[in-house]
Amino acid sequence: MVIALLIDIYFQLVSPKTDTFQENSRGGIRMPIKLGSCHCRAVLFQITLPNGMGELRRCNCSICRKKGAIMASVPIDQFVVLSGIENLTLYQWHTKIAKHYFCKTCGIYTHHLRRSAPNEYAFNVACIEDMDEIDEAEIVQLNGADDSAFLK
Ligand SMILES: [Zn+2]
Repeated sequence: MVIALLIDIYFQLVSPKTDTFQENSRGGIRMPIKLGSCHCRAVLFQITLPNGMGELRRCNCSICRKKGAIMASVPIDQFVVLSGIENLTLYQWHTKIAKHYFCKTCGIYTHHLRRSAPNEYAFNVACIEDMDEIDEAEIVQLNGADDSAFLK
């Protein structure tokens, strides 16, 4: 009995449910939480998604087209690095408004502070645990390449 309970606790710790809910400190409203990680799992983060994942985007600006990630975004207070913040490296160029974060160990892009919306973090949708299959037709293509501030 005790062993079964311990095994149950172990699996809850090792593979936490990603569609968990957390009390919102401001209003006691229950908010959906998703967990994300880089490839080596040195960096773990959580995002609060009161309205679901929202718009999924690809962008053709100079960094995004090389990065190739599908992204979504949340207000900065809805994105929290749970562990491994010291394992993130920051990349900036040109206007140095956007802040692009990558895992120092595995090189995976996790998130960035948006130049066009500096109150939002965009994040790598593929880093989200248990992400449902993405319908490519629903991905919005941003034309960052035509925005002069994106150009190097
Ligand atoms: Zn990593």
